[in-house]
Amino acid sequence: MKPDEVLQFIKENNIEIIDLKFNDLPGLWQHFSMPAEELTEMDDLMDSIFVEGVGFDGSSIRGFQKINESDMILIPDPNTAVLDPVCQVPTLSMICDIFDPMTKKPYTRDPRYVAKKAEDYLKKSGIADTSYYGPEAEFFILDDVRFAQNQHYGYYFIDSNEGAWNTGREENPNLGYKPRYKEGYFPVPPHDSLQDLRSEIVLTMKKAGIKVEVHHHEVATGGQAEIDMKFDSLVNMGDKLMMYKYIVKNVCRKHNKVATFMPKPLFGDNGSGMHTHISLWKDGVNLFYDPKGYALLSQTALYFIGGLLRHAPALMAFCAPTTNSYKRLVPGYEAPVNLVYSQRNRSAAIRIPMYSPSPKSKRIEFRPPDPSCNAYLAFAAMLMAGLDGIENRIDPGQPLDKDIYELPPEEAREIPQVPGSLEESINALEKDHAFLLKGDVFTPDVIETWIDYKREKEIDEVRTRPHPYEFYLYFDI
Ligand code: GLU
Ligand code: MG
Ligand code: MG
Repeated sequence: MKPDEVLQFIKENNIEIIDLKFNDLPGLWQHFSMPAEELTEMDDLMDSIFVEGVGFDGSSIRGFQKINESDMILIPDPNTAVLDPVCQVPTLSMICDIFDPMTKKPYTRDPRYVAKKAEDYLKKSGIADTSYYGPEAEFFILDDVRFAQNQHYGYYFIDSNEGAWNTGREENPNLGYKPRYKEGYFPVPPHDSLQDLRSEIVLTMKKAGIKVEVHHHEVATGGQAEIDMKFDSLVNMGDKLMMYKYIVKNVCRKHNKVATFMPKPLFGDNGSGMHTHISLWKDGVNLFYDPKGYALLSQTALYFIGGLLRHAPALMAFCAPTTNSYKRLVPGYEAPVNLVYSQRNRSAAIRIPMYSPSPKSKRIEFRPPDPSCNAYLAFAAMLMAGLDGIENRIDPGQPLDKDIYELPPEEAREIPQVPGSLEESINALEKDHAFLLKGDVFTPDVIETWIDYKREKEIDEVRTRPHPYEFYLYFDI
């Protein structure tokens, strides 16, 4: 929509409130609202929020400005205007870009701006004009969570159809049809108790303009879900994923349930990944397809894979960016641990889906990401790694189509693995980020802020707290 079309939309839909949303650095939506008159009573749209923007205090936003330079401006992107599918009062939702009021330039730590620059970089490279992303965000729908009384620990106790958290499985009344661990994929109801809830989520997404291809119960015990959107370009998919999470959480809340995108909430069962399907296109042609190549992949796709694998440890700082991410990335739960590619192996970091021989559907599936990531930054980082592979003709080596669990130990040891902790990924990013700085897509300030934020606010905070399992191991020592 253009600004005057937004105005028309407000009138036609009797909108009363305009809600402005934007992203913080770790990747959560923040927002504030204003009466619709702020737009409808404007004589000239040139004086409106579409041009002048609205001020806010950037110092209170995670990962943003210091207190002494805190004033920032939001300008809504009219293309994101949609009737907010969650609010009861007729509300127009728009996603905003962030600007520095002094320089009038886009704010370099705005994740959406990083994503826009990545798209520009791709076009300027001449390699392709469009990149597409199909994220498969998984999540858990739980009956309840309770915040621990002890604020120092800050734990959430899952008090749900799962029983007590992480140290073992204590069933609160098991209603008989609950899937056992790893058996949620995918019997019909009553085993799948969330069918209608997922359908309601999907219908709500449809109202918000999101096209969904499929929804289903996932592998983990009663509660794990997956809803797959139709692929889209980088910034668009970043926007959609934010709306996706917003709708999932709010529809579940309406039904007195709690949704979490935390990658590994339950010990001993599958975690939640966000495998991302990627392809590059030029003039309407899919550059990843070659009927003569391995798994129908072109040389361009192989170099892209080479870049993803070469930079994988650093990439993980954006794609699997929480300490909890690394509790998912362990063998035995369909999460990838091996930095290899394969058309068959689900324990490989890159899988080449072979569902269809059609040139249009050729893509690679990058499996390490999980839904705790900031999608704008994660997609931008994946694209930059892949492009670095193409620009430097990085050979991805041979695919690994053997069953990795059957390999002789000497051979298995040779296979590079994903980093074992957020600390390792952050250290890898500190050493390897030149590929992200190309075209000023990620600025040194964004990389430094990300590294400092993750070390100070997450890695150290988790490391210095006694873990409940330590009580099991050591209390009686
Ligand atoms: N939940 C698995 C993961 O953590 C993925 C299951 C699947 O293949 O969809 O990546
Ligand atoms: Mg899945
Ligand atoms: Mg998948």
